[in-house]
Amino acid sequence: MSLEVEALFTSALGLQPPWVVENVELDTARRRIDFEIACQGAVLACPACGAGAQPVHDRLRRSWRHLDFFQFEAWLHCDVPRIACGGCGKTTQLPVPWARAGSGFTAAFEALALALCRELPVRQAAALLRCADRQLWRRIEHYVEQARALEDFSGVQIIGIDETSLRRGQNYITVVHDLDAKRLLFATEGRDHQTVLEFAADLKAHGGEPAQVRHVCMDMSAAYAKGVALALPAAQISYDRFHVISMAIEAMDQVRRAEMQDDAAAVRLALGAGAKTLKQLMWGMRRNPASWSRRQIDAMHWLQRSGLKSARAWRLKMALREVYARARAHNSPERAATDLHAWLSWARRCRLEPFKKLAATLKDRFDAVVRGMTDHRSNAFVEAMNGLLQQAKRAARGFRTSANFIAIAYLRMSKLTHLPAHPFAPAAPR
Ligand SMILES: [Zn+2]
Repeated sequence: MSLEVEALFTSALGLQPPWVVENVELDTARRRIDFEIACQGAVLACPACGAGAQPVHDRLRRSWRHLDFFQFEAWLHCDVPRIACGGCGKTTQLPVPWARAGSGFTAAFEALALALCRELPVRQAAALLRCADRQLWRRIEHYVEQARALEDFSGVQIIGIDETSLRRGQNYITVVHDLDAKRLLFATEGRDHQTVLEFAADLKAHGGEPAQVRHVCMDMSAAYAKGVALALPAAQISYDRFHVISMAIEAMDQVRRAEMQDDAAAVRLALGAGAKTLKQLMWGMRRNPASWSRRQIDAMHWLQRSGLKSARAWRLKMALREVYARARAHNSPERAATDLHAWLSWARRCRLEPFKKLAATLKDRFDAVVRGMTDHRSNAFVEAMNGLLQQAKRAARGFRTSANFIAIAYLRMSKLTHLPAHPFAPAAPR
């Protein structure tokens, strides 16, 4: 190719002397473009100590995958000099300006890969980029770790602690959110009290102060309560709507399952039901009436006219939802407390063991439950974050280890400010 083309690509790649594009080869059959880059000069500054005019010891051949050039897969190649320094006595390879040390991708390619992994499952991003998933996972971990190290947590005061599991019932991960900044602060394996201590240490490492955390929104796990008491001395606890309602749904399911087991004949008689209706019933009971299907409406119609325990359990669950809905409307802790008292006294007298137990649990933690009832921002956020965590799990499909999941969750949910910029961002403001 002509000299002008090499000069053009030298500028387009942002190269400065001593780096220049020396040759460009376009292979239309293989849809590939190869750039040969040279590092000119027989003497160069030592990258280890900075001593000027040191001799080039030898050159090592290396290659990097770069952003595609139109429909061509682009590769950079260079014989990278090693400098034998008379100053410090070391032989050091010169860092190249287009890639970080040790990577076989250029920095621009890595930035694109990260941008894709924020939006797509990693496997899909790898397919689009025509590289291996494993190569992307390594980079996600690298850049997330580097970006997190520079994060500042000094303003953190209100947090949410939650657990999630990679597979149903196993591989638990504890996640801690900043409820003000609406971002994921910390994630770690396990769900014991130690996880909260680990969070406090991480908070400190990022300039935060555990004693400054004044509010924690979480579920009722005794382990987290112990961890908070140990590590976050000034924190007041509240229990969010999502977890309390989940407990009511679980109590309702227990009643329904027990009734089906002990008294299946009565259930069928009351509902006039086959297996299909019973399945509709199970889902209908869990869902909001507004989203019932035609069949669920029928099943729920019969349930409500029956004298079944399941019907009573469903009414109790719906009444608790209503207590939360009213609290959202009136926003008064006093009225929320009155409503909750009324619900608890009903639940205590309902003769359904799971609800009596739930009532006892809520009564024990009455103040923290009421605090959670009027804390709308946290409630909405906890639910939104749950959605994002599910997406992060899908993004790690096929490679769902704790480390991968945590890395992708940080990439997507931590609002990290020190990640490489998207390579397709406009070069100049428009
Ligand atoms: Zn040196």
